Amino acid sequence: MLCKTSEHIECLMVCQEAVRRQFEISELELEDELHHDADPLREKEHEVVPAMINKYGNRVLCLLTAECAAYCRFCTRRRLVSDIERGRVDRSHVDAWVDYLRDHPEVSELIISGGDPFIVEDDLFEYALNEIADVDSVKVLRIGTRAPVSDPCLVNSAKLEAIQRLNRPVYVGVHFEHPSEITKPAVRCIKDLLAVGAILYSQTVFLKGVNDDYQTLYDLFTRLLEIGVRPYYIYRCDPVPGASRFRVELDKERRIMTDLRRSLSGLACPTYVIDVPDGSGKIPVPLGFWDADTLSYTDFEGKKHTPEE
Ligand code: SF4
Repeated sequence: MLCKTSEHIECLMVCQEAVRRQFEISELELEDELHHDADPLREKEHEVVPAMINKYGNRVLCLLTAECAAYCRFCTRRRLVSDIERGRVDRSHVDAWVDYLRDHPEVSELIISGGDPFIVEDDLFEYALNEIADVDSVKVLRIGTRAPVSDPCLVNSAKLEAIQRLNRPVYVGVHFEHPSEITKPAVRCIKDLLAVGAILYSQTVFLKGVNDDYQTLYDLFTRLLEIGVRPYYIYRCDPVPGASRFRVELDKERRIMTDLRRSLSGLACPTYVIDVPDGSGKIPVPLGFWDADTLSYTDFEGKKHTPEE
């Protein structure tokens, strides 16, 4: 994977250890390569047309680009992000997605992700939004991004206007890992997105040495809620090659989330989940309020897994 970074995140990496750890390549990654699945969420096998993934029947994921402003070393899509040429999407891909959607009216929710959708040319961004929004059966439109953290300039006026012109709710999921990522430019992005009518939620991954302590996550979720971003999910780090160094012990994660649930308001506390390694969905992890068996869990299809898979 190439290591491309924007100027904004480079500055943040210099002054914030928690940010540097997320993007800096480590020799420890090489030790992992043989053990883990490059596509633990089975996205490739659910690709129904190029760059469109349908795992759930009623919701689809569209990968508008393989490019990001900076590459997180724990990324679930490490296998494809940064391979910009192979992941390049143009209007013909969007047209094929729309054909699929018209043939599958049971798909009511669509997430535009990547890579980072805010990095593509303004024209393509607007074309994709407009064409997809034009499909009557798509009732919920979502965009996943890390741009407010990695390169706030990507949230520019052309893209904001494209969102506003849709004149319908657009849910924007922003990936935050640490309170130091909530910089002034990031807050400005959030305000701009709110001003054009976007509904904002956050996604976070538990990361060893970055956010695996109560106070860091308390500060992160509290601050996110203050700026208008509803904390939505916190994930156990997926077992992708090279990411073992980021995986936190399950018991520690549960303890932290139990303490957070005690002290945070319900609105500020995200749901703590494991993304099942066979791609069948996100399973909530029970907190310490219940005497639950945490050695194994059953997925939506009735298959047993262990949290350490
Ligand atoms: S911004 Fe998102 S898609 Fe890009 S490397 Fe990070 S986690 Fe992966």
